[in-house]
Amino acid sequence: MNYGVKHKKVLVTGGAGFIGSNLIDALLENDNKVVCLDNFATGKIENLKDAQNNPNFTLIKGDIRNRDTCMKAVEGCDYVLHQAALGSVPRSIADPITSTEVNIVGFVNMLFAAKEAGVKRFVYAASSSTYGDHTALPKVEHVIGNSLSPYAITKYVDELFAKNFSDIYGIETVGLRYFNVFGRRQDPNGAYAAVIPKFISSLMKHESPIINGDGNNTRDFTYIDNVIQANQLGITLPKAKLVERLKQYQKETSGLMEMSDEGTIAEVFNVACGKATSLNDLGRELKNELAKYDPAIADIEFQFGLSRQGDVSHSLASIKKIKFVLGYMPKFSIQFGLQKTCDWYIKNNI
Ligand code: NAD
Repeated sequence: MNYGVKHKKVLVTGGAGFIGSNLIDALLENDNKVVCLDNFATGKIENLKDAQNNPNFTLIKGDIRNRDTCMKAVEGCDYVLHQAALGSVPRSIADPITSTEVNIVGFVNMLFAAKEAGVKRFVYAASSSTYGDHTALPKVEHVIGNSLSPYAITKYVDELFAKNFSDIYGIETVGLRYFNVFGRRQDPNGAYAAVIPKFISSLMKHESPIINGDGNNTRDFTYIDNVIQANQLGITLPKAKLVERLKQYQKETSGLMEMSDEGTIAEVFNVACGKATSLNDLGRELKNELAKYDPAIADIEFQFGLSRQGDVSHSLASIKKIKFVLGYMPKFSIQFGLQKTCDWYIKNNI
């Protein structure tokens, strides 16, 4: 996948994880040098199997909570794609302190290191959880509610730090608010697994997946290859063009958006498909897809459990801003993504 990042040196934090490892493979495909910083809290070495055979790849096993490690990792890098964090709303409710240390202190360490090293742009994983309890749909970047979990707070605080560092030190920052990303390598195991790999894994074992709530909740599921595109565009669009397009976007949205201060870039963008899918529909699609390999899966019924604390009922992104400003286009539909994802889990027998 080539969206213009070539022959650069890029640090990917959290590179042994689901999203990070996919970003690394795409960057290596385009002859970039890639440094991965990860402490393997949730990441896996298998995710880096291909990368490790590439001479342009360097792995640093280390923790973003250690400032010296961050300084060392970013040395000589043109860009940072900061993905390292402890994901999951329930995890942050069970242990808010560790999520805060990693997601906020670790984030600021990395941002500071990037600024000190003079990186050209710091692109980071933000989250749709920042919209909190605001019920307006679709979600537009400047309208957010109260946070519903410690995880959501950490991700919002990161955005505030990014904007502040940009204003004070001039570092360019781009926050990508991911909406329910899915695809190859997403971990199906453990209490904090995401819904799609969890459903796939249960169905493949002929177990009934449990839907939290009545299944009418909706999410804007986003295939990993769309996320790769967004990250690469976040790196490549030159500053002058970005400022020009932001100004035009601001005009078209009646000045509702908060504009970056002159000369600094500190923007956030939704990264999604712009389509709502209910959990019931998702379950049906997955069953249909997996039944192609194992017809018995068609007869498995879903069970319904309690709604989870900190979860919102509906989530749907406006992707107008990222399309207009970065030129993003979600090329891969949910159906295509689900098909590819099921293929991958079947092939890898996960
Ligand atoms: P993941 O758990 O697969 O990847 C996170 C990676 O960060 C792992 O490899 C983990 O080992 C690493 N990490 C954790 N703590 C670390 C530390 N202290 N030092 C160094 N590395 C550390 O999760 P993911 O789904 O790939 O998520 C990547 C990013 O995207 C995260 O910031 C997450 O909050 C954000 N995000 C993900 C989604 C989604 O749907 N997957 C949605 C919104 C935001």
